Amino acid sequence: MARYIFITGGVVSSLGKGLASAALGALLQARGYSVRLRKLDPYLNVDPGTMSPFEHGEVFVTDDGAETDLDLGHYERFTGVAARQTDSISSGRVYTTVLEKERRGDYLGKTIQVIPHVTNEIKDFINIGDEEVDFMLCEIGGTVGDIEGLPFFESIRQFSQDKPRGQCIFMHLTLLPYLKASGELKTKPTQHSVKELRSIGIAPDILVCRSEHDIPEKERAKLALFCNVRPDAVIPAYDLETIYDAPLAYHNVGMDQAVLDAFGISPAPKPDLTIWKDVSDRMHKPDGEVTVAIVGKYTQLGDAYKSISEALTHGGMFNRVKVNVAWIDAEVFEGEDVANRLAGYDAILVPGGFGERGTEGKIKAAQFARENKIPYFGICLGMQMAVIEAARNLAGIADAGSEEFDHEAGKKRFEPVVYHLKEWVEGNRTIERAVSDDKGGTMRLGAYNATLTAGSKVAEIYGTTSISERHRHRYEVDTKYRARLEKCGLIFSGMSPDGKLPEIVELVDHPWYIGVQYHPELKSKPFAPHPLFRDFVKAAVEQSRLV
Ligand code: GLN
Repeated sequence: MARYIFITGGVVSSLGKGLASAALGALLQARGYSVRLRKLDPYLNVDPGTMSPFEHGEVFVTDDGAETDLDLGHYERFTGVAARQTDSISSGRVYTTVLEKERRGDYLGKTIQVIPHVTNEIKDFINIGDEEVDFMLCEIGGTVGDIEGLPFFESIRQFSQDKPRGQCIFMHLTLLPYLKASGELKTKPTQHSVKELRSIGIAPDILVCRSEHDIPEKERAKLALFCNVRPDAVIPAYDLETIYDAPLAYHNVGMDQAVLDAFGISPAPKPDLTIWKDVSDRMHKPDGEVTVAIVGKYTQLGDAYKSISEALTHGGMFNRVKVNVAWIDAEVFEGEDVANRLAGYDAILVPGGFGERGTEGKIKAAQFARENKIPYFGICLGMQMAVIEAARNLAGIADAGSEEFDHEAGKKRFEPVVYHLKEWVEGNRTIERAVSDDKGGTMRLGAYNATLTAGSKVAEIYGTTSISERHRHRYEVDTKYRARLEKCGLIFSGMSPDGKLPEIVELVDHPWYIGVQYHPELKSKPFAPHPLFRDFVKAAVEQSRLV
């Protein structure tokens, strides 16, 4: 039976609960334990798949095709444990399940209520895979006191009572604000937040206190006394230079020790922190730097491309360089002088995206990279843009475009070199889709295999001709144009195993020009950078030496 750690937040949002959970997961692994991390989100969307990246940041996709919160990305990057559909749940999903059961008559005529029907559903979810790991870490989204979070807090309270004594602990993250005028850190908001938690029956075992200033011993003792936790369970969490310092930093202030103490595990197994020392060292001591321009639509919000910026950082660690990112808004850029705006960057990346807005800018970026032999990495929509660019400017299809844009505009303006996928094969079943389908959860999602052409650049980078990568797309490059594009030098070097769906294109006669229909960034880890990001950053380093 697993031990459970419930992670909650108070005082303000955006305290870094996801990161703290991920780092704790890594520290428990370093002590030899197996872990799984889960996110319970109180919002009413069934999943974040339909939310705008402006609202909610990136949508993280799992191998088994779940569209999840970006915190699952942190979990994977820190623990290397592949997240699953069953690691992410929202109120929307819980209520959908409960209401489906009610319609089927599963509740045998009972009145359906938040307690016990909704809470039971949440508890069943928390329990999934209980036998597989030593520790299950469950993070509750939002802040204690939020109306929509209440059923989740009630569920974890009940859950800890259902399990044998000592099987569950509660870790609460708060903020200690600093008052400049009096030169003091204030503990009152934390006290109130703990009071709120205790009023719903949850007594935290560990307090993690975010603070921009050193927390004096006196304040720690006060927090322990007023919040009813042990003094060494008040863990200071200071701002970090890089998120990859988190495991070492949290270890140094005793977080993992406090967790093991709370479970009464003694003696605690010694941690092996070699991996994190190496990661931290690579972050802090780069030998140089490169700058990659990301031409995208959601550039005002860094979280919208979280996994991509992290994967670039991982590629940088491998090559021992710091990777700076210049965010370029594709839409603004459409009206600018391309050569002027893009000159001087060591590489260009066009990320995934939806809808027509900004796409002409992305196509111009692909063209600039191709013509000037600057490393280019097109991801999902970024690959489609590279194909449209080559179709227009090399293959002579002047009105080449994507059906996505015509569907959006409601009229036909383009020759669809990128078309709406109607069916594809998943394992041994065929999945069918129509343009009129619901938007939620209907894309080609999750891990699919691809076969690479032996001798191609990507086969060389991966070191194999058979790969599996995660997808999230509705549109696809049409193989009808393959021969014409390949004649112009844009070869289809990766295809779905049945040969029907283009997965990768690359330009021959260019130092590094690759487009992929999938999202390689989702599988990159600081201790195991994704091969494509490793090689892309290497190409950027080479480019930086040319200028
Ligand atoms: N909008 C494109 C599609 O659905 C690309 C999706 C993406 O970049 N994730 O195919």
